[in-house]
Order: sequence, then C-alpha cells, then structure tokens
Amino acid sequence: MTTLYDMIVRHVRTGEAGGTADIGIVDGTVAAMGALGDAAAAETLDAGGLLLTPPFVEPHVHLDTVLTAGDPTWNESGTLAEGIRIWSDRKRSLTEADVLARAEAALRLYVGYGVLHLRAMVDIGDPALTALRTVLALRSRLRGLVDIQVTAFPQDGIVACPANAARMEEALRMGADGVSAVPHLERTREDGIQSLRIAFDMARRSGAYVHVFCDETDDAGSRYLEVCAALALETGLGPRVTAAHANAAAYYNEPYFRKVAGLVRSSGISIVACPLINSVMQGRYDAYPKGRGITRIKELLDAGVNVALAHDDIRTPFYPLGTGNPLDAAHMGAHLAHMSGRAELRSLIGTITEGGAAAMNLGDAYGWRAGVLKIGAPASFLLFDAEDAADLVRGRPAPRYVFSAGRIVAETLPAVTRLRGGGLEAASPALRETKLPVPALREP
Ligand SMILES: [Zn+2]
Repeated sequence: MTTLYDMIVRHVRTGEAGGTADIGIVDGTVAAMGALGDAAAAETLDAGGLLLTPPFVEPHVHLDTVLTAGDPTWNESGTLAEGIRIWSDRKRSLTEADVLARAEAALRLYVGYGVLHLRAMVDIGDPALTALRTVLALRSRLRGLVDIQVTAFPQDGIVACPANAARMEEALRMGADGVSAVPHLERTREDGIQSLRIAFDMARRSGAYVHVFCDETDDAGSRYLEVCAALALETGLGPRVTAAHANAAAYYNEPYFRKVAGLVRSSGISIVACPLINSVMQGRYDAYPKGRGITRIKELLDAGVNVALAHDDIRTPFYPLGTGNPLDAAHMGAHLAHMSGRAELRSLIGTITEGGAAAMNLGDAYGWRAGVLKIGAPASFLLFDAEDAADLVRGRPAPRYVFSAGRIVAETLPAVTRLRGGGLEAASPALRETKLPVPALREP
C-alpha cells in the first residue's frame, strides 16, 4: 500500500555532505522524508540537488515606513535625528491605501527572498492608528502565506509622549501582538526605565511580547539592556522579550559587558541585531577611530544568548538602501562582527532562520530544529542553487523555490550574465551566483 502524496519534492540536498532526500507532502505538512522511491504523488518537483534550508525569519521590519525614502525629502545627514524629523512629517499624510501599497510591495520582496515569518514594527504615534489598522488587516489577509506579528511601537517615547501608553493599550485591543519602548530616546535615564516598566507591565497583563528598541546609540552609558534583562526576570516574561539593536553594548567595557551578557543569557531574552541600518547610522558623531556600530553578535552567541539578525528598514528616511533579502544582513554581519570562519558563517545562517524563530517564539509552528525539518511540520522551506551556508552568505541569491505550507509561493529563475568579446566569452550564471569549484567549498 503506497501513500499518495499531494506533492513529492525529489532530490533536495539536506546538508553540506551532499546527500539528497525526497520530501513527501500531504495537506501542507511534511509526511515523509528520505528516499521515497516510486511513491505516487499528484505533483512532483525534481529539485536536482538544490540546497534545502529553513525559511528565513525577519524579526524587525517597519511595514509602515517602508519604501518612503525621498518622500518628501531625503535624509542627507544620514542621522537618526533627521530620519525621525522627516518621518514625523511624512506620517501626518498616511492613508490606508498608502500604507497598504507599500507594505504589500515590501512583503513581495520578502517572500521572494524566502521570508515567511516577520515581526512588524508599527508606529502608534498617529491618533487615528491608520498604519496599525492597515497592517493588522494585511496580517489577517496573508495568513497561510506569510506569518506576521504586529508590534505597537511608540516612536516618540512613552514617558516623553504620554498619549502613546493609551495608544499601545488600544493597539493591543485591536489585535497587536506586542508592545515596545525606546528608552534611550526618553529624556532621562529614569524616564527610560519608567518607559520599560510601562511596556513590560502592559505585556504581563495582556500576554503580549515586548520588543524593545534598546540602546540604539553609540553612548557607552546607555545601559537599558541590563534593565530589559532584569525586567524579563522580574516579570517572568523571559523569552517573550527581545532587545533590538543593543548598539551601546559595542562600547561597554569588558567587565561590564561580561556581566550583562551573563544576565541576558539567564533572563532568556533574545537580541535582534540590525547590521545593515546600524552600520550607516552608528558612529556618525565619532572622531576616528569610528565605532563599528554593531552589537557584539559573536560574543553574545558565545555566551549562549539567542541572537537573531534583522534586515530592518527598506528604503526609508532612516536607511535609503535595503532589498528585503536577509542574506544581506548576514553578509553585513559577517563583516562587522568578524564572523568569516566557516562555522561562523553557518551560525550566521542560524541567526536568520532558527535564531529569528526563537526570538519570535514561533515554537513548533516553525517546524525546524537544529537544521532538521521535522515530520509533521508545515512543509515550509527554501531551495537554493548554492553549495552551503558560506556560499549563501557570499552570493546572497534569491531561493529558486519558496515553499509555504506545501505550496510553491515564489520562484526565482537563474539570471545569466553573458560575457562578450575579449577572450572570456561564455554564458554563466549571474556574477554573484557564480560558484567556485566545489572541492574548495567542502569541509575537509
Ligand atoms: Zn528598526
């Protein structure tokens, strides 16, 4: 008696050793994995040895500000202060149609690059909560394709802007999943702590998560990461807490950093680093030598902390670049965090897959653990024309196929670069995808 699968994906490469397997899919979940021989299926895809990876996770994106760079003006200084000023103007003219068109365009980019789980930040400074309403509606509409968590984000602070506390409560009533705070932008250290207490208390009462914009500054005196960890312990919220950015940690003295890393580890909170935006945003006011503007990704990982990388902004007043490809964040992380060793490049892929899933508390819904797709899990995975993790970070290709719950939801055809004249004429894959000879990329 043979099982009839809805689909069999044949010959996926499951690791760097070169072994392949077939994936049998029934009702959107993984029913079998291995050599499925002549098992019958309604549909078959021959992956031809494409590399199998977990879906990507984007744990920090602004779906309300996305794709507004240059509208109405460009951020010429590149500073956070000018970005906030431009966004304060721009957000007065937000309409549902405007937010929807831009958020949808961004989600097309993300899904094409293999992102199936996103945590969105939505500024709730607008009394009408237009952006929030729109993103919440989009979340419902796209359920089953892409999983979106919505964070009520008080861009202008909570103590400095008292109306934001009530708006966060309202956002939770409307269906937001999490709350936030920006303690380093409050007026005083004490106000910053107070803003965290308000956000944590709201989360504790409502069951929301807390996603803090934490120490996004080059000021070594910004020490809200320890407060986040302490409040995570005090409230019992633990892994329901993420501290995003944590740039000031790059400047902490070593004994203090070690203390904080241990505290963060024992609190169970996750760190979300945003190497793309912070590489241009931080260090702006430094004389040489300039700070690298990135939290201590490698040292936090070594301390046993869950670290996720986020792509963050795509073409906003805060960051004019961005593609939506999480591999760009991993690539920048490899450089800024000095993580170019082979095991380190592998662990960077972990930060945009399972690390992100842990930060978002996805649990079994993610379906992958320790690089293995589990039987019975949603058939959500990516297939890449790449050798291994290092090759992914280097080439930053789009996946050939993106599977979400058993369906192909995106397909990218290989690009071809044709060299003409000069003795090098040949058709080859696009330049970034050009592979090195295989033996040079294999483990010894
Ligand atoms: Zn951000």
